[in-house]
Amino acid sequence: MRRRTKKKNDRRIVIDRYRCAYCGACISVCKYNANELVETFLSINEDECNTCMTCIRVCPMKALSLEVKK
Ligand code: SF4
Ligand code: SF4
Repeated sequence: MRRRTKKKNDRRIVIDRYRCAYCGACISVCKYNANELVETFLSINEDECNTCMTCIRVCPMKALSLEVKK
């Protein structure tokens, strides 16, 4: 069962699709089941993501980053 997380509209995880190698490392570490591979694309569900940044730290390709809206 998925954990409900508080939505944080001011921050989100951004995927650089040119860097992503679809290795799945970010998916295996996400405690909120907020990301998944859909065919050959990584998808992040912003409603589930709490922007903990764990996925950013484990990505070997540095394909993920945190965007803070002004
Ligand atoms: S860990 Fe990085 S390279 Fe691997 S699927 Fe996630 S974003 Fe892509
Ligand atoms: S920031 Fe945290 S909650 Fe959001 S997709 Fe990455 S690991 Fe999952």
